[in-house]
Amino acid sequence: MRIHTQAKSVKTTCPYCGVGCGVIATPDASGKVAIAGDPDHPANFGQLCVKGTALGETLATDGRLSVPLINGLPSTWPRAISQAAKALQATIDKHGPDSVAFYLSGQLLTEDYYVANKLAKGFIGTPHVDTNSRLCMASSVAGHRRVFGSDTVPNCYEDLDQADLIVLVGSNAAWCHPILYRRMQAARDKRGTRIVNIDPRRTATSEGADMQLSIAPGMDSVLWSHVLVEIDRRGVKNNTYINGFTSGYDAALARALEIAPDAEIAAVKAGVSVEQLTKFTSLWIETERVVTCYSQGVNQSVQGTDKVTAILNCHIATGRIGKPGCGPLSLTGQPNAMGGREVGGLANMLAAHMGFSDAERNLVGQFWQAPNLVTGEGLKAVQMFDAIETGRIKALWVMCTNPAVSLPRADHVRAALNKLDCLIVSESHKDVDGLLSAADIVFPAAPWGEKDGTVTNSERRISRQRRFLPTYEEAKPDWWIICEIAKAMGFIAGFDYAGPAEIFREHAALSSVENHGGRVFNIGPLSAVNDAEYETLEPVQWPISKAAPDGTIRLFSEGGYPTPDGRARFAVIAAPADPKTADANELLLNTGRVRDHWHTMSRTRLSPRLNRHILQPYLEMHPHDAAVHGISAGDYVRVQSAHGRAVLKVRIEEGARPGSVFAPIHWNDLTSGHARVDALVHALTDPFSGQPDSKATPVRLSPTKMRSHGVLVTPQRVELPTWLAHTRIQLGIGEAIIFASERAPAEMHALLANFLPAGGERLEFDDAGSGLFRCFIISKSVLKAGLSIGAEQHEAVVDWMIDRFSSGAPVEADRHLLLAARNIAGAPGAGAIICACHGVSEPAILSAIHAGAASVDAVGLACKAGTNCGSCRPDINRLLRENEGAAHEAAIQPAA
Ligand code: SF4
Repeated sequence: MRIHTQAKSVKTTCPYCGVGCGVIATPDASGKVAIAGDPDHPANFGQLCVKGTALGETLATDGRLSVPLINGLPSTWPRAISQAAKALQATIDKHGPDSVAFYLSGQLLTEDYYVANKLAKGFIGTPHVDTNSRLCMASSVAGHRRVFGSDTVPNCYEDLDQADLIVLVGSNAAWCHPILYRRMQAARDKRGTRIVNIDPRRTATSEGADMQLSIAPGMDSVLWSHVLVEIDRRGVKNNTYINGFTSGYDAALARALEIAPDAEIAAVKAGVSVEQLTKFTSLWIETERVVTCYSQGVNQSVQGTDKVTAILNCHIATGRIGKPGCGPLSLTGQPNAMGGREVGGLANMLAAHMGFSDAERNLVGQFWQAPNLVTGEGLKAVQMFDAIETGRIKALWVMCTNPAVSLPRADHVRAALNKLDCLIVSESHKDVDGLLSAADIVFPAAPWGEKDGTVTNSERRISRQRRFLPTYEEAKPDWWIICEIAKAMGFIAGFDYAGPAEIFREHAALSSVENHGGRVFNIGPLSAVNDAEYETLEPVQWPISKAAPDGTIRLFSEGGYPTPDGRARFAVIAAPADPKTADANELLLNTGRVRDHWHTMSRTRLSPRLNRHILQPYLEMHPHDAAVHGISAGDYVRVQSAHGRAVLKVRIEEGARPGSVFAPIHWNDLTSGHARVDALVHALTDPFSGQPDSKATPVRLSPTKMRSHGVLVTPQRVELPTWLAHTRIQLGIGEAIIFASERAPAEMHALLANFLPAGGERLEFDDAGSGLFRCFIISKSVLKAGLSIGAEQHEAVVDWMIDRFSSGAPVEADRHLLLAARNIAGAPGAGAIICACHGVSEPAILSAIHAGAASVDAVGLACKAGTNCGSCRPDINRLLRENEGAAHEAAIQPAA
């Protein structure tokens, strides 16, 4: 419990995705925090998606780390700092500085990132600093640097309002960048902007698209090569732009012609029809104001850099870049992936967008007065953990991320962590699956709401994250922890900062040192902000200069590339290789996110309402593949790759791509049993960016006959056997556990009934013949705990029990349902929650549709769904589409 001394509204920035929405947080004296969108923030103008809206539910201090830990035992800051500094120094003395590595996070603030990078690359002298942004953005960075000469996003969100065509490539923006998706939908409503979704699978984003191109996995650069070929063949290339501001067009075109010589060949390779390909190509070519947005489906690939390049080639060939309504727009996954890139948080960058040339090293070395400046690039994330496994890296400091869940081959990463001589972890929570148990020293880090700094969103906009809560117990901001370690290692002068404002000023100053336009990233004027000005810093887009003191909205419309000749470079890409499976029994595993969860769920799982949209991890597959493998919807399958295995419940979707399956990445061993999907993912990486290919891992499926299914709702966390396939759902007053087992119901009954608490009124139904067992513990008319086990899955029972348990609603009227030896279909509370803001379930929305609601707005009028944050509007649209005609039929029913 935190003590709030004052209740005032604070403007800050959302800690989740790269949209970077402005948030107003208002704590009250009771410990609660009201969250609202910041109407003045240009990223969101007051809107928030459902994750942002629910931020106030994720701030409880239960489960927080309160003091430093040494070997798992509580310690003090002085001891932990001293021990960590000594351990790092001992490793350096014995094995050299490059036996030390830092693994950082796109959720660190820029100031944290800056001092971590400075300590590692300038003072310790290890180049091995990488970040989980490697999993998210590295291919876009490599593509930008290859074509533009700099990691620079040329366009901005405003272009989505002004485009006539928006193309989303490998981007489920409806779920992963919801506020930008709403902005796209607003443009579609207002000005008729057409939207094309290019993705192997039909997603929520497809619901608001005018065209869906279900491209074959990995074949994006075939499609974009075809567009380049057609730009040339139709004589619509922008000769003024090409001749004035670019180089290498002919070579890039020649390679595009080899990859996509004609529409027929391109269509076959891309896995779409000639008609679809031609229609899309014509639309793109004939629409001047086109924004091409891309994210993980492009980046997370062995050809990620080439895919980005192929998109950029088309934009510079037409001169559609950096102009209102037209240009490429990389949608960043994390809130500060771009800020991390600015300071050199990636292993292949030094600092302030500089590399490792002698001139750049001299500049940075002098600026930092660095005693041990590195000489070149370090190991990128996947290779870093391989080097830990082989013993080359002996000490690792992990901040604000969990590689034991999120890196490819996560089991391999877990094993590697245990080989380290020293693992230091900066983390805010006690429960971090597979990481803290391996750590020698754990620092309690201050999370969102308790620390100050800046972040940069996908459109180069720097915004303040501001503290609005007192720091919990002894937690400290990351910049402070890093600087204390640096000072304990003897680097006092370089790390004696008074606070994040001072670090920010230094970062800004470095960006402008000897920068005469050769580096686009320049925020030099901000080096003069005083503490008060830093406190009130308004969102601003870099670069910032004397000529552009308020920042720069767009770049490169008139060239000005930071390359030696000032020209953008058309790049020659490799012919894409078809991701292969070994035989017809293998499918390609594509991984991604769901609407209401973020990364490893350490924050979102704390919000009961965010847990209700999708309760369980799952495997999505096409009906054809399901039939071939003898699998039905709701079955459980064992998913096996060369690196790991999982047991997942099957969803069958017409929109899935045959030959591919999809699984979300969020669940781990704290929230589930046998659902850590990144344990399956192979570690193939893009040769330029080092970004792992998380979209096409060959897997085999084997149906698993589950003899028992059930749900346990309990006020306290219970420890389950590791063999049990299950999902935990945190409910505020306890948790629900959904499980399935190959063991008989009677066996599961004997095992799980022990977890029911004593006391209260006990209602039991036990039918040995059918295997159905139900037990409910009621106190003062409220469901306090319950267990339902049967040979069949009763999803409505699960929904009903979760609803009644978490709401605390009286169950007296439902006593007959409690013990009914049948499904509780139709009971209030049954069904997935589609609208998390208003708690509207799928059955309630279907009722509205069947009663005549024929549009998303009409559904909203009938049951409020979709009328607040709007994140569920694509889901409502899907229900309308799947029940097309229902509203019409309702309308023509004769009056009774
Ligand atoms: Fe946060 Fe949602 Fe905005 Fe992303 S779109 S920054 S998750 S409120």
